[in-house]
Amino acid sequence: MNTVNFSINMSTAEIFLFDRIRNFISALNNFCFPPVCCNCKEFVDTEGLCPECWKKIKWISDPKCRICGAPFETDANLLCLSCLRKKPHFDGAVAVFRYDDFSKNMLLKFKHGDATYMARQLAAWIYRAAETEIKKSDIIIPVPIHFLKRIKRKYNQSELLAMELSKLSGVLYEPRILRKIKSTVQQEGLSRKKRLKNVKGSFGVQAAYSHLLEGKKVILADDVMTTGATANECSKVLKKHGATEVTVLTVARVDFVA
Ligand SMILES: [Zn+2]
Ligand SMILES: [Zn+2]
Repeated sequence: MNTVNFSINMSTAEIFLFDRIRNFISALNNFCFPPVCCNCKEFVDTEGLCPECWKKIKWISDPKCRICGAPFETDANLLCLSCLRKKPHFDGAVAVFRYDDFSKNMLLKFKHGDATYMARQLAAWIYRAAETEIKKSDIIIPVPIHFLKRIKRKYNQSELLAMELSKLSGVLYEPRILRKIKSTVQQEGLSRKKRLKNVKGSFGVQAAYSHLLEGKKVILADDVMTTGATANECSKVLKKHGATEVTVLTVARVDFVA
């Protein structure tokens, strides 16, 4: 009996000591590297956005399309017009906030401005918005970019997001399966029809890794969803090679593109 009490007391003391050490390290870390706003680098109390940037973000919540996640003004519909007309190859899509001038500026820093430190926070928001979808998946795959573009940009922002999502969830990260096999012109500024044509046939699966897709539920990670043309083309290829389900996760999404 005494032994049991002793062991309980010891572990309580240890927990207390570890808590004190952890709090001290955290305070020291905050003192040396105070947290800054993910967007404007203003000092903040906790990691994330400063109050000013927080106010400007248009977070996406229900109601939204059951498949592509497009936000609705009313909850009268289950599916948006686009999904009603033609069901996409992916089964679901979740985006954290709307793609407008403010979030576009923020994500451009992440995509082209070497602000790779943003990946951790952006992925944390995706994880919060789509925890259920991520936990039931088998594999996380980033939307690839052509290798020449990767050399020029030095990194692929979708890979950084996918890696962080894997760290948060413990779900396997696998960037080798999906490949951008054809260099395409920038999707930005193109109409819906032209975007579809532009990405058609531009993605492929590496034969050596295609077996990893068989019977798997896939998370496809990207920074922005515009018309969904890229996500749709990737999903088509992934399903053709055995994936049973594809859920697209992005930081932001455009409401609608004609
Ligand atoms: Zn800010
Ligand atoms: Zn939809």
